[in-house]
Amino acid sequence: MAKPRLVFRIGLIGLMFFVSFIPPKYNFIVKLELILGLTPSVIEKVLGIKCLFCGMTQAFHYLAHFQIVSAIKCNFWSPVALILGIVVIMKWDLRLLNKKQEYIFFIVAIILTFLVNVQTRLFSI
Ligand SMILES: [Zn+2]
Repeated sequence: MAKPRLVFRIGLIGLMFFVSFIPPKYNFIVKLELILGLTPSVIEKVLGIKCLFCGMTQAFHYLAHFQIVSAIKCNFWSPVALILGIVVIMKWDLRLLNKKQEYIFFIVAIILTFLVNVQTRLFSI
């Protein structure tokens, strides 16, 4: 797939920021997630554990309001996820090129999932 123009990619990041700025109560993306049955996530429904993106919608809302501590409380790696998201959108063609990169990707995903669950167990009321 051809890399879209820079203005489109920057617009996409702007849209992501705008959507994150809207409170979850009124956010159409949150409503869409509910309608599609995406929240709670499939991993949470089937395995009873949090996925690495659990709490990310609320965390991005806090990040859009520069409330970084509150965002970290929702999902500890949300600030990194935001930066990664921007990098992925700007570079666009980001692929795992070999088995080694695939293994690293899945090991990092499993470690993050584990840490999100540790965070949830330690800091939930
Ligand atoms: Zn989840």
